[in-house]
Amino acid sequence: MDIAYMVSTRSRCNRRHVGTVLVQGKKLLGTAYNGAPSGVPDCSEAGCMIAEELETVVVDGQEQVVRKQRCIRTIHAEQNLLLFTDRADREGSSVYVTDEPCWTCAKMLANSGIVEVVYHRPYAKDTQLVSELMRQKGITFRKLEGYQPPADTMEGSILD
Ligand SMILES: [Zn+2]
Ligand SMILES: [Zn+2]
Repeated sequence: MDIAYMVSTRSRCNRRHVGTVLVQGKKLLGTAYNGAPSGVPDCSEAGCMIAEELETVVVDGQEQVVRKQRCIRTIHAEQNLLLFTDRADREGSSVYVTDEPCWTCAKMLANSGIVEVVYHRPYAKDTQLVSELMRQKGITFRKLEGYQPPADTMEGSILD
């Protein structure tokens, strides 16, 4: 997870720095972070590409509709990891990722050959869908508890 956090500092999206690594046992098979497709301006050059979405959240047992802003310029870290690793390496391997995967990434991870996903920061919005999918697929899905990321790796992330 330390390596995932260090990789996350390479992200040029100021709203969210996400890093991820693929490991088999103790062997590191790949690393990735969230970013714009290569060769086009990234968030630090062109600014974040903000999309607004309405989202239902539960506050004190009451459902509320809130307006959320997300940056849609980047390919998510997990998606880049899948783009830059081999299927054969993923079979039976684990993914460590700084942030709990979103629903789209979870679906891709579920079909990627990996058998375990370990995350640190929760992403409550998709948690129910994602954990149910992982359960159905028999993929171990867990939050790394009692963990403290390396100093200076969490700058600039806005968690929403
Ligand atoms: Zn951005
Ligand atoms: Zn994602």
